[in-house]
Amino acid sequence: MKIIFLGTSHGNPEADRFCSSIALCVNGKYYLIDAGAPVCTLLLSRGIDYKDIGGIFVTHNHDDHFFGLIELTRVVNTSKSCEHLRLPVFVPTRRIFANMVSFFYRFKMMHTPDRTVYKKYGKGVIFKNDDLKVTAIPVKHMFHSYAFLIEAEGKRLLFSGDLKAGMPDYPQILFDTHTDLLVLEAAHTYIDTDNVIEKINRSKTDRLIINHINPYRNTPEKLSSAFSKVKKSIDCSTAFDGMEIEL
Ligand SMILES: [Zn+2]
Ligand SMILES: [Zn+2]
Repeated sequence: MKIIFLGTSHGNPEADRFCSSIALCVNGKYYLIDAGAPVCTLLLSRGIDYKDIGGIFVTHNHDDHFFGLIELTRVVNTSKSCEHLRLPVFVPTRRIFANMVSFFYRFKMMHTPDRTVYKKYGKGVIFKNDDLKVTAIPVKHMFHSYAFLIEAEGKRLLFSGDLKAGMPDYPQILFDTHTDLLVLEAAHTYIDTDNVIEKINRSKTDRLIINHINPYRNTPEKLSSAFSKVKKSIDCSTAFDGMEIEL
């Protein structure tokens, strides 16, 4: 499976980073974890056609994780090339969809955005097809915020989503079972603190990618200091926009 980091910034875009969005490519379909702005441009720049998106999974109700959906919803619902698309968008609260419909209505952008099928999810398995299974794990960043365990092609990946400062809600599953990859969002936490390093070192993961980079909190120096304290069996790196890995 291919994992493409479309946007890797923290709450605000930076000169070289856009807001959160990651594409997983499994068996020719793309699945998005979060859809920060400008996700349409980022998809097109990676050669990804909207018609090939199999689902979008939004970790929580903060704008840096879903504002790209405003444009994506409008484009998908008004482009001739997408007329047969029925794109499932999994959101943790109905508020995102309700406000978006209201926004489109007030600005007379469209009537019924029925090519994007918004589904409210909660804890547990939220999606399963022959290629991919997605399990939502509650975290404490805000009301209705989740990490995602992704199972595909015999691999297990954990996307933490935003966590509370200091990571008291670091998902327990990381200590209990093996994961091939942990994508850890670090916007709200100094990553090189002993508390966080201890959690990472207890995790049964092969690979760690730090994402949701706040360059004022987690400078390149702090990130390399953190990586020097992580046990050698975990391959550590920092995400950047356009980074692609194969698992
Ligand atoms: Zn965030
Ligand atoms: Zn957030």
